[in-house]
Amino acid sequence: MDEVMKYLYILGACGSIGTQTLDVVRQHKEEYRVVGMSVGSNLELAKKLIEEFKPEIVCFRKQEHIFSISYKPIVVYGDEGLLAISRYRGYENEWLVNALVGVVGLLPTVTAIKARKSIALANKETLVVAGDIINELIKEYKVDLVPIDSEHSAILQCLRGEEKKDIDKLLITASGGSFRNKTREELIDVTVEDALRHPNWSMGPKITIDSATMMNKGFEVIEAHYLFGIAYEHIEAVYHPESIVHSLVQFNDGSIKAQLGVSDMRIPIAYALAYPKHLNGETERLNLKGCVLHFDELSLDRYPCLGYAYAAAKKGGLYLAVLNAANEAAVYLFLNKKISFLEIEHMIEKEINSSVYERNYTPSLEERITVGKEVYLKLLKEYGEII
Ligand code: MN
Repeated sequence: MDEVMKYLYILGACGSIGTQTLDVVRQHKEEYRVVGMSVGSNLELAKKLIEEFKPEIVCFRKQEHIFSISYKPIVVYGDEGLLAISRYRGYENEWLVNALVGVVGLLPTVTAIKARKSIALANKETLVVAGDIINELIKEYKVDLVPIDSEHSAILQCLRGEEKKDIDKLLITASGGSFRNKTREELIDVTVEDALRHPNWSMGPKITIDSATMMNKGFEVIEAHYLFGIAYEHIEAVYHPESIVHSLVQFNDGSIKAQLGVSDMRIPIAYALAYPKHLNGETERLNLKGCVLHFDELSLDRYPCLGYAYAAAKKGGLYLAVLNAANEAAVYLFLNKKISFLEIEHMIEKEINSSVYERNYTPSLEERITVGKEVYLKLLKEYGEII
C-alpha cells in the first residue's frame, strides 16, 4: 500500500477545514499520513490532535504557546515556522493542505511548491493575491494544485473529461450568507453576532463575514479564473439559497453540468486529497426526493463587494493585493466592533478606487505582500488598532 500513501502537511490544523481534513484522514489511515501540522491558539485541541496524529514537525503560532509533546517532534513557531513546515522534506508524494486564513497563507504555498509539494488549497488569499505567479510556479516545479472549496471542487468535477474550448460559462453558486433575507436598509445596524450565523455552512469567522458581504464569492470568482483559466466575462456568480448545487458549468451547446451534495466540507476535502478519485466517506447522502432548488440573479447593488472583486481583477496589478488587504483589515475591525457592517464595503471601495496603487508593470510577489501589509496597517491605525 505504501506506493499510494500521501504525506500531508496541514497548515491551520485546528481550524474548521483543518479539523475536517483530519477527520477524512482518520477514515483513510492506510492512504494518508500527517507529517506536519501548524496549530493556532486553541491549545487544548492542538494537544489532542498532535498526540493523536504524531506529526514529525509541529508549528505553533507563537513561541509562548509551545507545550511539551510526549514523542518529541521538531518544533517551530510563527510565520518562519510555517515556512519551515512548507520546506520540510521527508517523502515522495507530499501534499501541503493550506487551510490558513488570510494572506499569511501565501508564502507557505510558494515555499511548498518550490519544495515540490503538491497543494490542496483552502487558503483563498493565495490565488487572489498571486494567482498568476502561483500558476507559473506549479508549471515550473511540476506539482499539482487542487482546490478545497465546495464551488471549485464542483467545477473541477464538472470539467473532468471536458475541453476548455467547449466551455461557455462557469456558474458559481452563492448561498447569500447570513443576511440574505435583509435589505440594504436593514443592514445598517446588524451585529457581529448576527453576521456569524451562517444559514447553511459552519465555517470560521473570517469566511463567514466574507460570505455575508459576498466578498467570499468575489474571491471565488478570482480563484476560478486562475484555477481553470477562464476569462472573467465567462464566470458568473448565481444566488442559490439551498447550497445543494455547489456550482455548474455551461457548455457551448447549451448543456449544463452541475455537482450536488449535502453541505459538508468533508466531501470537497476528500475529493482534493484523492483527486481524481472519490473516496468512501461517512458523510450524509443527499435525499433528492422532495428537494427544491432555487436560482436567481446576485444583485451588485445588494452585494457591492462582488462588484469590487471584479473591478479589482479588471484593474489587475496591485489591486487584488489591495482588495484583499482592505478586506482583511475591514473584517478584522468589524469582528472587533470598531466599524459597522456596511463600513466594510466603504473601506474596500475607497482603497480599490484609489489611483496610488497603479503600476505600469506586473508587481512582484514581494511588492504585493509589502503593499498589502501597508494598506492593512494603515486601515487599522485609522481606528487606533495597532498590532
Ligand atoms: Mn466556497
